[in-house]
Amino acid sequence: MASSVLDPWASPGGAGQLLSLLRDGVPRTRSELAVLTGMSRSTVAQRVDALLGSRLIGPAGDAVSTGGRPPTQFAFNPSSGLVLAADLGATHARLGVTDLAGQVLSELFEDIDIADGPEQVLGWVTTTGRTMLEEVATPDQRVVGVGIGLPGPVEHATGRPVRPPIMPGWDGYDVVERLQRDLGPVAVVDNDVNVMALGEHFTTWPTVDHLVFVKVSTGIGSGIISDGQLRRGAQGAAGDLGHMQVSHAEDVPCRCGNTGCLEAVAGAAALLERLRADGVDVRSGRDIAELARSGSVEVVQALREAGRRIGEVLADVVSMLNPSVIVVGGSLARSGEHLLAGVREVVYRRSLPLATQHLRIVPGSTGEHAGIVGAAVMVIEQVLSPVEVDRTVG
Ligand SMILES: [Zn+2]
Repeated sequence: MASSVLDPWASPGGAGQLLSLLRDGVPRTRSELAVLTGMSRSTVAQRVDALLGSRLIGPAGDAVSTGGRPPTQFAFNPSSGLVLAADLGATHARLGVTDLAGQVLSELFEDIDIADGPEQVLGWVTTTGRTMLEEVATPDQRVVGVGIGLPGPVEHATGRPVRPPIMPGWDGYDVVERLQRDLGPVAVVDNDVNVMALGEHFTTWPTVDHLVFVKVSTGIGSGIISDGQLRRGAQGAAGDLGHMQVSHAEDVPCRCGNTGCLEAVAGAAALLERLRADGVDVRSGRDIAELARSGSVEVVQALREAGRRIGEVLADVVSMLNPSVIVVGGSLARSGEHLLAGVREVVYRRSLPLATQHLRIVPGSTGEHAGIVGAAVMVIEQVLSPVEVDRTVG
C-alpha cells in the first residue's frame, strides 16, 4: 500500500523505491531523499529527473532555506494518470474514473443484467468508460489501466471467472484479454468482495495489516487482508463465508446444494422470506433498511438474529486469522447498527480474549464507492509497484 516504508522488493537505488517513498504525499528535497533511501546524491538526482520526466512526481514548492537558494521539494503527482474502474453486480454497475491516488473524479451508476453475458456487458463498460475518460482527461494525462470487480469467483492469475453461479456465459471467459484489447495494456480482474475489501482498506485502514471485510447482501462473502496483502487462496475462493455451516440449520437448503449454509439463514433473500412469512411487506434489501430505520420490531429482530448467525462464523474466522479490524459492509449492513450489534454479541462471546482484546468490528465507511476505489487500487498497485516503475521509468 501507499506507505512510506521502503518496499523490500524494489531494486535498491531504483526510481521505484524513490516513488514508493513519495507516494505518502509528503514533499521532500533531494537531500532528504538521499538520507531516507541511503542512495548517493547523484543517484537521487538521476532518479528524480527520470520521475519528473514521467510526471509521476512534480516540484512541490521550496523547502525552508538554511542559507543560500532554497532547495526544491518534490512530491507524488497523482493527477499524471487516470484509471477506469468498474464494479459490476448482478443487476447494477458502477463505473468510475480515478487518479493515481484512488481519488474518484467521476462516477456513474446504471442498471445492467450480468446474465446478458461478457460480450454485451464488457462492450458497455468499454464504450461508457471511454466516454467518461474523455470527459475527465486533460491532454497530459494518460490512462494507465482498467480494474474490474465481478459478482462471482475469479481465478485472479488469469482473470477468468470460474463457474460463477449467477453469470451465464462468463465461465472461463478471458476478461483481461477483452479489456486489454479495448482499453489498454493493464487490466486487472477480481471478485467484487475482494475488490471492496481493497477499497475499504486503502481508504480507511491503510495502516492496518490484518483486516477482514464482510459483505452482507443477497450473498455473504469476505475479503481477507493478512500481513497487508489480499489473500485469495489457491483458486481465488478464499473467504467464501456464505457457505460455511451454522448450527441448528440442518434442514435449511442453500442454493449451492448443501444445507445449513450461513447465506441460507442470514442472507437478504432468507431474511425477506422470513419477514414475508411473518406478514411484513418487504420486497428488497432497501425495504429492510427503511423499515429498520423506522424502528420495525420484526425487522430489527431479524437483522439482529442474522448478525448473530454471521457472528457464529466470524468467531471461527477470528480464531483462524486474528484480524484487528472486521469491516461489515453490503446492503444489509447499511440498515443501521442492528446487524452489527448481533455480530459483536457473538464474536466477543465466542472468541478467545487474546484475539478480541483489540478487535474492532465496524461498519463499512466507503459505502457504495468501495468497489470502485478497490478496482482502481488493483491497477494502481500494479502500475506503481517499484518493479514496474523501474521497468518503465528507469
Ligand atoms: Zn451454500
